[in-house]
Amino acid sequence: MSFTAAKWRGHFPLLAAHRDLHYLDNAATGQLCEAALDAVTSHELLHRANVLRGTYRLAEQADAAYENARRQVAAYLNAASADEVVFTAGTTASINLVAHAFGEGLNAGDEVVLSLAEHHSNFVPWQMLRERRGVLLRILPLTADGRIDLSRLAETLTPRCRLVAVTHASNVTGAVTDLAAIVAVARAVGARVLVDGAQAVQHGPVDVAALGADFYAFSGHKAYGPTGVGVLWGRGEALAALPPFLGGGGMIGRVTVEETTYAPPPRRFEAGTPPIAQAVGLGAALDWLRVQPWADMHAHTARLAQRLIDGIAVLPGLTFLGPRDLKQRLPIVSFNLEGIHPHDACQVLDGHGVAVRGGHHCAQPLMDFFGVQGAVRASLAPYNDEADIDALLAGLKDAMRKLG
Ligand code: PMP
Repeated sequence: MSFTAAKWRGHFPLLAAHRDLHYLDNAATGQLCEAALDAVTSHELLHRANVLRGTYRLAEQADAAYENARRQVAAYLNAASADEVVFTAGTTASINLVAHAFGEGLNAGDEVVLSLAEHHSNFVPWQMLRERRGVLLRILPLTADGRIDLSRLAETLTPRCRLVAVTHASNVTGAVTDLAAIVAVARAVGARVLVDGAQAVQHGPVDVAALGADFYAFSGHKAYGPTGVGVLWGRGEALAALPPFLGGGGMIGRVTVEETTYAPPPRRFEAGTPPIAQAVGLGAALDWLRVQPWADMHAHTARLAQRLIDGIAVLPGLTFLGPRDLKQRLPIVSFNLEGIHPHDACQVLDGHGVAVRGGHHCAQPLMDFFGVQGAVRASLAPYNDEADIDALLAGLKDAMRKLG
């Protein structure tokens, strides 16, 4: 299968409807692929019913579609079993689930290790856990260019460490985490590893078996699927060891007035009516993504990222956040131009039809590390092309004329 950005773009209905849009905010939300849109539409039109509850044919079809989506996610992640896939509302919900269910077993003095590069959704739930359980948070420091400093692993992961929660890739710098190194040290001290995969899954299939982590969280909407759905993958025994987080219908074995027994995973963690059509859409998106020509697509987005980095490198007053070497990063480029507030830059860029994000990107500890309040971020997808980058560069020059 040969790849071109134009052909890929053709699979995204919104981009066909907005031909003049230069959409470069893919780290916030990817556009919905037609495979997902078609699956959601046909599910809602033909198979809509609640799951796990009905015995009539329509309900059985809804059940089958929902469980098929679980298998599609498992295939994308190379999970050992579809039962390792829990549908949630998104990355944030997945991390909160672990913070509550795993956190329930932690006590004062137990340690949870995060990195300074985490998104707020992999910071705040652990700070809340610290309030509840008195655990100690230890923070993995960063190298000057914003990568997790692996030389500090051994001293940060003590024998009291129970969990390491780190991002697979930074939503600000695009820096990819060396998970193998972290997993090895975590294993040595007997800690579990949770990976925030929100920025990684949309860049190609993930092999959770090879990563060796215990939990992997991501969101559907960043992986060209619907909003409102996400996944918590958990290694079979790691999930089985967790108590439920939310209680309600669907997650029980038996309820009496006196007590409740719980269903095994994944149902144990899916209280209430799940996001059924959204899960079906996400399954379809990942099924489609799984067979895309990723090597060509990576080469394409890396070329575009290089074009962007080269283009901004010559602008006066540039501050660049993160590693410049494209081998260590995803095509997410964050920067500042002296004297120009990121929000103002984004507004001028919007006038050029360029959609990029400016602000702290829900990573204020990382912004503090870089000594900035915010940054302009362009995040690329395979449907982007040279025209998108050139429009961004032209817009930046205009912003410098108007604001600089
Ligand atoms: N982690 C990272 C690295 C992210 O980029 C994001 C989304 N910006 C999240 C977590 C949270 O994802 P969601 O809002 O879909 O729950």
